[in-house]
Amino acid sequence: YVAKRARNEFAIYKPEFDTYNPDHLSLLRDLREAIRRGSITAAFQPKLDLRSGIIVGVEALARWHHPERGDIPPYEFIPILEQTGLIKPFTLQILEKAVDYCAQCRQRNMEFSVAVNLSMHNLRDDKLPEQISEIINRYDFDHRQLVLEITESAIMHDPEHSLGILGQLDEMGLKLSVDDFGTGYSSLTYLKRLPVSQLKIDRSFVKDLITDEDDAMIVRSTIELAHNLGLDTVAEGVEDEQTLEHLRALNCDMAQGFLISRPLSPDNFFRFLASSPWAARSKRPEPESG
Ligand code: C2E
Ligand code: MG
Ligand code: MG
Ligand code: MG
Repeated sequence: YVAKRARNEFAIYKPEFDTYNPDHLSLLRDLREAIRRGSITAAFQPKLDLRSGIIVGVEALARWHHPERGDIPPYEFIPILEQTGLIKPFTLQILEKAVDYCAQCRQRNMEFSVAVNLSMHNLRDDKLPEQISEIINRYDFDHRQLVLEITESAIMHDPEHSLGILGQLDEMGLKLSVDDFGTGYSSLTYLKRLPVSQLKIDRSFVKDLITDEDDAMIVRSTIELAHNLGLDTVAEGVEDEQTLEHLRALNCDMAQGFLISRPLSPDNFFRFLASSPWAARSKRPEPESG
């Protein structure tokens, strides 16, 4: 039901989840069970600060290992969670895993921000701010280190309502980041009114930055726009050194991508930190600015 295509590009073709399709039905049953058991895990991918050259944050990305079918990528199961309402408990589970991991890092004297992805449905849930607050209060965790990533299209789906919830999250001191920026239809008017403090430039503009002049121009303008609005920028999908250097020259604030690291399990991430040149000075950096 999801066309085979490059990772992370599911938004183009997203058919309705069909509960009459036996295959979908069994996947839904397994998904429900996985959530009940809390067995969907979070992988962590670092964000490199381009000025200091050290890792200042991580993004939590959901990973589902199905007992028979093997690894099922987020673009296959997140839409099902969204269409069935399971996204609400799921988001809180991933958020708790992310906060727990950050608290563990903190005990090892490594302090990072952690980003969690929210879905459109989370932004329509008036209970969300209180539920988030209840979770973070249970951990030794500085709530200013929690970043919530929200796609432009999720915000624009119901901008007035989103504005209310985002306002509450902002008042709690959480940092809001616009994910996949440039792929949706966000109006600059809303961007100005929203309490967001970060734009994540979508991988589709970053991947050919070196060879494609249009992409280079879009990335440059986005960084300028962001800085003029007082926002910082993260470039997604950085896969080579040349692109990283170009982004640094364009004054991009942070980079995330396979060049720095793939998303890693908590244990592998600890190992990565012990060996990466970018983590060599990762003891207690300043929280992400903004
Ligand atoms: P996203 O939030 O834009 O996450 C970045 C995606 O790009 C991740 O894919 C990551 O593995 C991938 N990526 C990072 N660096 C590179 C790179 O250098 N090259 C390439 N080709 N890809 C790179 P992933 O983990 O498959 O997640 C895909 C999307 O699924 C995410 O896009 C996000 O929209 C959604 N997602 C993942 N976890 C969650 C979650 O816990 N909750 C929600 N609501 N959505 C999630
Ligand atoms: Mg994201
Ligand atoms: Mg993204
Ligand atoms: Mg993306």
